[in-house]
Amino acid sequence: MKFSKKEIDRYSRQIILKKIGVQGQKKLLASRVLIVGAGGLGSPIAIYLAALGIGKIGIVDNDKVEISNLSRQIIFSTADLKKNKSSIAINKLKKINPNLQLQSFQKKLNIKNINQIAKNFDLVVDGSDNFKTRFLINNYCLENKKILVSGAISKFDGQVYTFNFLKKKSPCLGCFIPKMPKNPDIDSCEYEGVMGPLAGIIGSIQANEVVKEILEIGNSLCGYILIIDALKLVFRKVKLNKRSDCICNDR
Ligand SMILES: [Zn+2]
Repeated sequence: MKFSKKEIDRYSRQIILKKIGVQGQKKLLASRVLIVGAGGLGSPIAIYLAALGIGKIGIVDNDKVEISNLSRQIIFSTADLKKNKSSIAINKLKKINPNLQLQSFQKKLNIKNINQIAKNFDLVVDGSDNFKTRFLINNYCLENKKILVSGAISKFDGQVYTFNFLKKKSPCLGCFIPKMPKNPDIDSCEYEGVMGPLAGIIGSIQANEVVKEILEIGNSLCGYILIIDALKLVFRKVKLNKRSDCICNDR
């Protein structure tokens, strides 16, 4: 693959970085990332990944844009109300970077459709809003050896975790949360509230971790959980070990 002059200009601030360079940028353009959830986290994740040149991006979301989403789901505007989130988000990404392969999945991810949707992607970014979907994605990525970069937000608190299932020693979501919480379908943002910019902080960290995992640069977050308290403004990186009784030990 040869870069056009326009592409070199577009990505020049990344290409100039020693840890990325032309080779790194080519690797980003050759990578395929699936984003689950076009919400508070999915918005900044999608915008950054498209802008920085992830070659193929898919977005899964079956919901429609509601007025209560607009305080944090910055990929949408008031004119998008009642329209399907994944297709609106993909249209926005096309405007940001028209040279990418972009795919919208207007579906609710479930055990029957996850393989069909995710099989052509190497890395999954989880920006979903409930535990049922989180565990579904975790188990799928574990079984199919895909990298998973996950984020969660509630009130003023956020978490980011990366599971690199290409590595045998990677823990999984079950190591962190051994039992599915009660009411796994519930979106905690709806009941407990969430601070808008926190979605931007966590989603942006997820986008940054995606690039690090693809390019294998810096310190991988795999094996740790980043816990952020946005009120106290405290960031803590906590070790997460594999649990001996977790499903991730059986493979
Ligand atoms: Zn595990």
